[in-house]
Amino acid sequence: MTENSAIPSFPPSQVTRLSWNEALCVHCGACVGQCLSRAFIVDEATRRVVHDGDRCIACELCIPACSYGAVESIGEHPGKPGEPL
Ligand code: SF4
Ligand code: SF4
Repeated sequence: MTENSAIPSFPPSQVTRLSWNEALCVHCGACVGQCLSRAFIVDEATRRVVHDGDRCIACELCIPACSYGAVESIGEHPGKPGEPL
């Protein structure tokens, strides 16, 4: 098993379907626990939440977790939110 074998990979066209609005983010961390691909993480140095779009698989699990409207889908999802792509 390779280091990142548990992280599914998807075509680049599916990586841009989530928008994170940092201006609305209060860095509460609620999305971090929902993000299985570790696209949302807490930066160790600043203790602020950051989003890595390259790791995002657009599963949308973070959207209902965010009470501040800081994450939204910006494209059509081929399945239902939360389903594997
Ligand atoms: S749940 Fe929303 S407000 Fe909280 S850290 Fe994540 S994006 Fe920011
Ligand atoms: S859409 Fe899924 S993979 Fe992307 S940041 Fe949200 S929980 Fe993580």
